[in-house]
Amino acid sequence: MTNEQTLILIKPDALIKSLIGNILTELSEMDVDIVGAKIVKVSKELAEDHYRNLKEKDFFDELIKYIMGHYHTKRVLALVYEGEDAINKMRKIVGSTHPEEAHPTTIRGKYGRITSKGIFENAIHASESKKEAEREIKLWFDPDELTNTIYPAKKVEVKKQELVWS
Ligand code: ATP
Ligand code: MG
Repeated sequence: MTNEQTLILIKPDALIKSLIGNILTELSEMDVDIVGAKIVKVSKELAEDHYRNLKEKDFFDELIKYIMGHYHTKRVLALVYEGEDAINKMRKIVGSTHPEEAHPTTIRGKYGRITSKGIFENAIHASESKKEAEREIKLWFDPDELTNTIYPAKKVEVKKQELVWS
């Protein structure tokens, strides 16, 4: 088994239901460490890039609105966890995609639901493979936002406009 990092998103339905604490408690029992965390207001661009493998699905537009928070609150909690076998460990505790098929002891089994419109409100995302984990971590986080990096990073001069306190 190898040391891995995985991206977890606590989705807008879980935030509006005040489930962050319960979900973080469950994740903390998986013997993996948090190496990054931030609240994100998800742009359309980020949402579409994150779920780009599902672009052809008929639920894609609804999925983008859901993860952007149109139905709940416009925030997600993005986290990176690191540890032995972290990707599979987290997928297991997260549970099946369809909330009704998810085992009742999993996070989706406990907190997920399917709406009458057919939207899966399944509370949480976890990367599904090493390749996807790397892609997703690099999409959501800059290297200096993580307390440990497992992918190579380099120092470059960046000139950009930044919002500062006035
Ligand atoms: P996630 O990527 O969010 O962790 P997953 O890997 O278990 O979920 P994917 O196939 O990647 O499942 O689907 C991504 C998201 O798209 C799901 O979490 C769910 O919100 C939505 N979704 C997947 N399949 C369906 C479906 N058949 N109908 C409606 N929504 C779906
Ligand atoms: Mg997925």
